[in-house]
Amino acid sequence: MKFSPEKPALTGETLESLAARLQEQGEPAFRARQILEWVYKKRVTSWDEMTNLSKPLRTWLAGTFDFMPAELVLNKHSEDVTDKLLLELRDRSLIETVIIRAPQDGVGIDHSRKTICISTQVGCAMGCVFCASGLAGLKRDLSAGEIVAQLLHVCRSEDARTPRAHTEIASFDNIVVMGMGEPLANYDALIRALTIVNADWGLGFGARRITISTSGVVPKILKLAEEPLGFRLAISLHGATDAVREQIMPINRAYPLAKLLPAAKLFSEKHGRMITLEFILIENVNDSLEQARLLRDIALDLHAHVNLIPYNTVEGLPWKRPSLTRQDRFADILRAARISVTLRREKGHDIDAACGQLRLKTEKDRELAAP
Ligand code: SF4
Repeated sequence: MKFSPEKPALTGETLESLAARLQEQGEPAFRARQILEWVYKKRVTSWDEMTNLSKPLRTWLAGTFDFMPAELVLNKHSEDVTDKLLLELRDRSLIETVIIRAPQDGVGIDHSRKTICISTQVGCAMGCVFCASGLAGLKRDLSAGEIVAQLLHVCRSEDARTPRAHTEIASFDNIVVMGMGEPLANYDALIRALTIVNADWGLGFGARRITISTSGVVPKILKLAEEPLGFRLAISLHGATDAVREQIMPINRAYPLAKLLPAAKLFSEKHGRMITLEFILIENVNDSLEQARLLRDIALDLHAHVNLIPYNTVEGLPWKRPSLTRQDRFADILRAARISVTLRREKGHDIDAACGQLRLKTEKDRELAAP
């Protein structure tokens, strides 16, 4: 499902594609680098600020490209360390981008390590039963320009508040492609966007600091393993047996563990980097000690890091978060086997941080407000 905007987004252009458009206009190719420098390094917000371009060229650019295909409609700051940006696209679709701050000892929150969680689709077709994003199904894929625009909005918002402002580098430390949507179901736009994010003429952000998280689209994991840029991989496992996984993740029918785990292993061997297994702990669904032992065996075999995420309640869904004792008991089984494990104590509960919740609430409000 694609959306065809009036004008292509500038943030979806590569150096090569922009140079080709400019050359068709009789402009030298080096102008492309100048324009992208204004966008990604100087981070201007209008064509008129590109002062080394002629007025006629700026007029042509304004008529040809959409400067920014997403507008910031809400920047929701939580009591803890998570911010959520709600962005509106040209077709009025809403997407979410989350800034997660990890405070470091002895420095203020503005100097904390920042991980940005970006979305790749409006809604999601995967239908994981515990997920707010999947509740209304898939509306459409995001374009590469819309994916990149999320990160530019984060840069702008961080530039405005931190001393790292306008240092010509991205003002965050890690990117996780873990927001709304299944990233590998929008493969081409994702790779184009991350190529722009990585390039020296783009945000110049290292591929090793970008993690792509998938619910387990096996053929695309194998394709990703062949990409020249070495992105990191996270698998949303959420069940250590087919029976449990199938109960909560319909994708397991197409790609059961017997297909998924060898693909994960191949990726890990090819890149020589640890993959991450994401495991949302849901009470009486996947939080038994038996599941913990089976997860331990999988993690040992894959030499994987395990990220345990206590479930974030979603309004209208019956699933619950296990008690702290149950969470700790589960984690201890992994730790006893010397597996690298994080038990993510929740961030952003007060700003609807479970993926897709803020967007769903805003869409409901819109429906109620409509005449
Ligand atoms: S958990 Fe991820 S893959 Fe599953 S429905 Fe939600 S957004 Fe889609």
